[in-house]
Amino acid sequence: MAAMGRYDREVVPYTNRTHMVIRSPQAERQLWESRYTKQKKIWASESRIVDPLHPDSVRVRRIAEKVIRATYRTLPINSSHDGTKSPKRQTSHLEGFEWEVILLNDHDHNALCAPGGHIAVTAGLVEQFTDAEIAFCIAHEIGHIVARHYSEILYAKWFPLPLILPFFQRTEMEADHIGTLLLGAAGFHPYASLLYFQKAAMIDRASWTPQDRIPLHPSDKRRVEHLYQPKIMEEAMRLYKEAPPDEGISSQATREGFSFRQTMGDACKLISTRLRRVLTGR
Ligand SMILES: [Zn+2]
Repeated sequence: MAAMGRYDREVVPYTNRTHMVIRSPQAERQLWESRYTKQKKIWASESRIVDPLHPDSVRVRRIAEKVIRATYRTLPINSSHDGTKSPKRQTSHLEGFEWEVILLNDHDHNALCAPGGHIAVTAGLVEQFTDAEIAFCIAHEIGHIVARHYSEILYAKWFPLPLILPFFQRTEMEADHIGTLLLGAAGFHPYASLLYFQKAAMIDRASWTPQDRIPLHPSDKRRVEHLYQPKIMEEAMRLYKEAPPDEGISSQATREGFSFRQTMGDACKLISTRLRRVLTGR
């Protein structure tokens, strides 16, 4: 362990899971900012970055801004990286981020976020998904950053992938969990996370997207079942109802009260049934 240099036990905000990280927040940010800068230069040289004034770029920036604001509003930034023995919820790594959102010319439906606050979204996502579904995809990526997954010990190269795969997949589901809470806090209905997986599964099925040789991500069915747990959805709904009116459509929930929530509940049951059919072919 000594060869690893610095490692710390930290607690993930929102989920309160304790994990080991191998880098300080500063080292994490330095590493990923230099990687991202190199990658961005490649995208620019290939003319893949969409004009920031293009309506699609403006749209995706507005959506990301809501999620970012919700993150800072629901996660009080206080330095907890004080080196004391008992780990606290780690949030100080989100201080001083210089958030930037770019849109990439790419048919894929994807997003990424690098420590430091660099978000890249592909045009395929913007073309095929609603604002709330795009917000979930971005919130999932921000979830990885909030949870410092890129510095989690699992991501170290010493372990063979098949051995750590279940743990690796758990980080994906944790990003889904945090992403759904942020989605609600940003004023988007949390069920949009389920709709996102439904649509993504249908698109991937229609386009015959080849699967990873080793499936790095858990199946969509498993991810949806995980998110559908009351402890996640109820908390996301609470954040959604408490979201300031200017954060999105949350005023609908209070204005229309129970009937609106009931309608969404019924819609969700329908989504789950359809989703199960899409995912299982039955
Ligand atoms: Zn992920």
